[in-house]
Amino acid sequence: MTRSPVWHPFTQHALEPAMRRIVRTEGAYLLDEQGHAILDAISSWWVITHGHRHPLIMDAIRRASGLYDQIIFAEYTHEPAEELARGLVAIAPAGLDHVFYSDSGSTCVEVALKMALGFFHNSGAPRSRIVVMEHGYHGDTIGTMSAGERGVFNAAYEPMLYGVDRLPFPVPGHEQDTLDAFERFCRSGQVAALLIEPLILGAGGMRMYPAWLLTELKAIATRHGSLMIADEVMTGWGRTGTLFACEQANLAPDILCTSKGLTGGSLPLAATLCSAGIFDAHLSSDRSRTFFHSSSYTANPIACAAGLANLAVWKTEPVGTRIHSLEAMHRTRLERFRTDRRFANVRQTGTIVALDVNVPAAGYLSEAGPKLRSFFRARNLLIRPLGNVIYLMTPYCVTAEDLDRAYDAIDEAANLFAGDQ
Ligand SMILES: *Cc1c(COP(=O)(O)O)cnc(C)c1O
Repeated sequence: MTRSPVWHPFTQHALEPAMRRIVRTEGAYLLDEQGHAILDAISSWWVITHGHRHPLIMDAIRRASGLYDQIIFAEYTHEPAEELARGLVAIAPAGLDHVFYSDSGSTCVEVALKMALGFFHNSGAPRSRIVVMEHGYHGDTIGTMSAGERGVFNAAYEPMLYGVDRLPFPVPGHEQDTLDAFERFCRSGQVAALLIEPLILGAGGMRMYPAWLLTELKAIATRHGSLMIADEVMTGWGRTGTLFACEQANLAPDILCTSKGLTGGSLPLAATLCSAGIFDAHLSSDRSRTFFHSSSYTANPIACAAGLANLAVWKTEPVGTRIHSLEAMHRTRLERFRTDRRFANVRQTGTIVALDVNVPAAGYLSEAGPKLRSFFRARNLLIRPLGNVIYLMTPYCVTAEDLDRAYDAIDEAANLFAGDQ
C-alpha cells in the first residue's frame, strides 16, 4: 500500500497501527469501510454533544449552504451570526453581552487573552500577567500552549513560550493552598486575568475540583480587579451537567470561551463572549483602540446556522433530562470500580467519568495508554486513555447497552496489567 501523505494530529506514525477509514457517522457510532460500528465513547475528541448527524443540525447546514458560503465579517454581517450571538447572550451567564467569533478552541482562547490585555492597555493601566492552573490545557497554538501545562508535548517549543503564573491544582484537603497562591499573585497588581477550565481539567487528565473553589477564585480576582476567563471549550454544552460549568459555581466570568459543542460538533466554530466593560474599553473614536483580531473564516454563516440549530435542539428537545439520565447511568456503573484495587481516583462530573488504572509507570507517555487503546480498538470501542487515565465522554444519545459494553471492556482491560498491580 502506498503511504498516505496525511500527517495526523497527536499521532506517532512510526508506531501507529493502520488508520481505520470511516465512511459514515450515525448517533453514537462511527461506521468504517469494513462495516464495523465503532462506539464513539469520546465524542470524536469531545465535540459531538447530542450525537453524530443530528437531523435538525444537518438540515440547517443543508439550508444555509443553499444561501451562503464564507462572507467577510468586517463591514458586513449576516442573520445566522446575528441571531446566534443574541441566542448565546441569552443563555450564557449574566453580564456576557458581546460575542466575538472565531473557528477553534485555541483561537477563541487567544482572542480571550488579547481581550484581557487589550482591556487593561486601553484603560491606561496595563497589566501583563496571566494566571493559570497547573495541569491546564487551552490549545496547541504557541499562545495557548504557553498558558497550558508544560511537558513532553511542548518541550521543543519551550524557547518560544511566554511565562505565566501557575496555581497548584487543588488537591482535596489542600484547596486553601490554591487560593493563597492566587491571592499572592494578585497582590502584584499585574494580573490581567485568571484563565481556567471550570470544574474539570480535560486534556490534563480529567482532573476534577469543586465548584466552590471556582467561586472563591472569582471573588479573589474581583477584589484585585483581575478578570476571569472561563475556558468552557470542553465543559460547555452540558458536559458537566449544566449548560455551562460556571453555572454550578454561581458565577459569571468576565470572558467565556466556547467551541467544541457550539455546533453540536458538526462544524468548526468558536465564540468568545465578554462583558460590556471589555467591549467598551475598545470602543473609541481613536482607531488605535480597535480590537485587532480576525480569522479568515470568522463567523462562517453555515457554521453559525449549525450553531443556531444546536440552540434549537436545546430548546425543543429534552436535552437536560437526557443529560441527567446519562449522569445517573454512569453513576451506577462506576460504583463497581470504587472499591476495585486495580483502579484509583474513580470520579465523575456530570456526563464525564474517569478512573486511573493502577500501573507502575503512570503519566501521559505511560505504556498503559497505547496498550489500553488497542485493547478497546479491537472491541470497536473508541476510547483513548490519557496515559493511564481512562475516561468516557460520550454523545448524549448513547444507550444503556452501549455504556454496559464500554464498562465491561474497562473492567476486562484492567486485567492487562494484573501482573504489575
Ligand atoms: C480542546 C480544547 C481547546 C482547544 O480547542 P481546539 O479546537 O482543539 O483548538 C482549548 N481549551 C480546552 C479546555 C479544550 O478542551
